[in-house]
Amino acid sequence: MIHYLDNAATEMVLKEAKEKAIYTMEQAYGNPSSTHDAGIAAARSVDEARGKVANALGADKGEVFFTSGGTEAINTAIMGAAAKFGRKKKTIITTNVEHPATNETLKRLSHDGFKIVEVKVGKDGCVSAQDVLSKVDDDTFLLSIMMINNETGAIMPVKEIKSGLSGIASGALLHVDAVQAFLKTEEKLAKYTGADFISVSGHKIGAVKGAGALYIKKGIKIPCLISGGGQEGGMRSGTEPVPIIAAFGEACEVRMKNAEGDIKRVKELSRYIKNGMNKRFPDMIWNSSETAAPNILNFSLPRAKSEVLLNVLSERNVFVSSGSACAKGKRSEVLTKMGVAPRVIDSAIRVSLSPENTRDDADALISALFSAMKLFENGK
Ligand code: PLP
Repeated sequence: MIHYLDNAATEMVLKEAKEKAIYTMEQAYGNPSSTHDAGIAAARSVDEARGKVANALGADKGEVFFTSGGTEAINTAIMGAAAKFGRKKKTIITTNVEHPATNETLKRLSHDGFKIVEVKVGKDGCVSAQDVLSKVDDDTFLLSIMMINNETGAIMPVKEIKSGLSGIASGALLHVDAVQAFLKTEEKLAKYTGADFISVSGHKIGAVKGAGALYIKKGIKIPCLISGGGQEGGMRSGTEPVPIIAAFGEACEVRMKNAEGDIKRVKELSRYIKNGMNKRFPDMIWNSSETAAPNILNFSLPRAKSEVLLNVLSERNVFVSSGSACAKGKRSEVLTKMGVAPRVIDSAIRVSLSPENTRDDADALISALFSAMKLFENGK
């Protein structure tokens, strides 16, 4: 039996999402731009999915633009905002623990003369809203802040940052990378955060890989990244991947419907793992703070090496990660920026939960880690 505990990297596809994709391939195979019935059925599928994603965000359908995933949504928001608002103003504020989708995009802009101000996180992996707001000046046109960190689960004060911005005359807009937050909390993020742009990804919520969305608040217009036939209101040209979009909508609907129970169960399982780990490994170190999102648990087992632990766990069909899936083999920059000692980083493990996980998965994890640690103790 597989114990899949790497849900922050990607989630297993929900049965409902898979079935929706197949149904759409069979029943709505037309091109949504075609005017015949097959095209109309496909356009209807995309429209329905947009409604479901919008509902999950607390947004209007017209504010949701489909992309290929979180990375493309983030690129579209940042590059679009820079093209639109970055002629006179040059400063973008961010944190020093963003995902590479944000970091690398900002790096490109810095080569083009933009000024990127990185606000440092504290030991808990969070920035303070006050710190962020103190950096905003008349030259600032954009802030790009993640809502939940993918390695530590640290929750950033994006709502406070947005409301603080309204008291500052600069008119700077806020982009939130909500890839790890969307449908992991009960809040509808467009309403809750008040952000101007929000990036989300389908494969982190049990949809098929290849779909994400960018929320753009009504009234804001930015240029697109991909030009062509004008699909997605001109924001992303190219024939829509209708089955994948439909599956994304379905996953949103399923997760919305079950949110209350799912979130409660994930919290309970998280507590169960924490208690079990603390009991079995009294000298372990938690890299995620007490206030972090419950679905992401980052910890270190001194004397161990993450890569060896991962291999032993994998042999027992327990799948976790040593950090973010994108940081393969490199020492975690996020933990480094939090001031975690290199020795502790080298033994860090990230366990990330989905509503599908059970106590069996948790027990398998703890017992596999226990066996792995015995190998270390025996010097093997
Ligand atoms: N932002 C965060 C916080 C992430 O965790 C990820 C993926 O791990 C991304 C952005 C990129 O999303 P996608 O894989 O959909 O491109």
